[in-house]
This record gives sequence, structure tokens and C-alpha cells, in this order.
Amino acid sequence: MKNALSIDVEDWFQASEFDEVIGYKNWDKCESRVEANLLHILKLLNVKRTKATFFVLGWIAERFPELVLKIKEEGHEIATHGYAHRLIYKQSKEEFREDVTRAMEAIEKVSGVKVRGYRAPSFSITVDTFWAWDILSELGFEYDSSVFPILHDRYGVPTAPRFPYRVKLESGKRFFEFPLSTYRLWGRNMPIAGGGYLRIYPYWFVKKGIRKINSEGKPAIIYFHPWEIDPTPPKVELKFLSKFRTYTNLDVTEIKIKKLLRDFEFAPVEEVLRNTNFP
Ligand SMILES: [Zn+2]
Repeated sequence: MKNALSIDVEDWFQASEFDEVIGYKNWDKCESRVEANLLHILKLLNVKRTKATFFVLGWIAERFPELVLKIKEEGHEIATHGYAHRLIYKQSKEEFREDVTRAMEAIEKVSGVKVRGYRAPSFSITVDTFWAWDILSELGFEYDSSVFPILHDRYGVPTAPRFPYRVKLESGKRFFEFPLSTYRLWGRNMPIAGGGYLRIYPYWFVKKGIRKINSEGKPAIIYFHPWEIDPTPPKVELKFLSKFRTYTNLDVTEIKIKKLLRDFEFAPVEEVLRNTNFP
């Protein structure tokens, strides 16, 4: 059973936790660490001969074209995380279309690769923004991986399917959603798939969760960010919860990723979806 491995390519200051304290207009003034972190991730994957999907921010693609080319040359899938990391439910449909188009064009220009997959900033496809799928499909996207079937203050659709499914679009076009993986426990979905959850939960729990998903004949999907393997990022004063979500256990992410690569087989999202039977 191949699981999907995904990396949301953004710099540390682009994570939503920094929206209020740094913000888009100050991005160019921040110390960039994405290149070093990403090269390190590529090395980790190379050692295990593992291919993944990189959801690249358009803003990053414009400033680091050689990085996008390297991801491509190493045989990974290039997808997008939008341009300016704006939460979908804070945009109008037109603003969303513009943001995604700009990201797509930036990535396709440097890589020559047609982008087919999308991941929303902070998983911001929720019940109020399902319209995003229609726009993505119109723009030529074939899948999305943004729905988190959990309860959370910023994202989540607790009643959404837990495994990849075909989205019914008005246009009738084929389009798939690969929801972020959860562990079903005591009648609730617990997020286990990556990011802060991967950093905070003990590894055995994450492993058990993926095994359980695979035992049901379904693939899991793991995600993380380049800044999460950086144990010494520039420190910014954040509110308690943001601080906890951003800075906890940055020194163990790499160890956990190595364990995941040892214990499971991974492939890019596009490949896992292609090999999934949909009813
Ligand atoms: Zn992000």
C-alpha cells in the first residue's frame, strides 16, 4: 500500500500563525530559510528513493526558480499551495481565482510542468468555500487536498469523508479530493497526518493511525513544511496557542519523517489517486 507524501513549500514567515505579526507586505524583509530546508528534505527523500508532491507557493516559485526546477529534476510532483497564502474564506471567488492563476502561471513558467494539484493555505476549504473546487476544475486542476475532516478553530469539515473521493461538480468534470488523514477514535476523527500533529504526537501513535487506515485498504496522506525541519528558526513573539503550534518539537520532525520513510511506502498524491478505485 502506497501512502501519499506531501510538502507545502512555504517559508517560516508565510505560515498563517504569522499573518497578524508579519503579514504579506513584509515577506520580502524576512530572513529566508526555505531553500536550505527544502534542499535538506530533497536529500532525505533521495536517500530513501521516495517521491513526493510539493505544493509550492507561487511567491516562492518566482523567487526560487532553481528550487522548483530541482524538485522537478528529482522526479517529484509539482503542485501548488496558491500564491500569497491567503485563507480561501477570506477571499472572494474572483480573488481566489486570481491568486491560484498567478501561482499556476509562476510555477508553470519556471518548470514547464502543468500543475494539476492544489492544497489550500491552512486547509481553508470548508463548507463555506466548496465553490473553490469548481474554480480549480475550471482552471484545469484535477485534484485538491485541503479538506481536514476534523473540528478546528481555523479549518475542518468534521463530516467530510475521511478517504479520497470524487467530488461531484456541476460541470460533471472528474475532480478528486484527498482529505488529510485522521485516526478514528472514540467516535471522533483525530488529525494525525502531519504538521503540528506529527510533531506533537508520539511517533507510535502516528504509525498506529496510518496502519489502521491501510488495514481498511485506504491510503493515508502525510504533510509537512520545510520550516518544520528547521530546529532554530528566527523567533517571533506569538500568542500562546500560535507559539505552541509553531515552535513545539521542531527538533524531532526530521527524526519522525525518517521513521515514516523507514516504516511506510510513499508516492506523490497524483500517483496514489491514479491507483485508487473510485466507486
Ligand atoms: Zn501553508
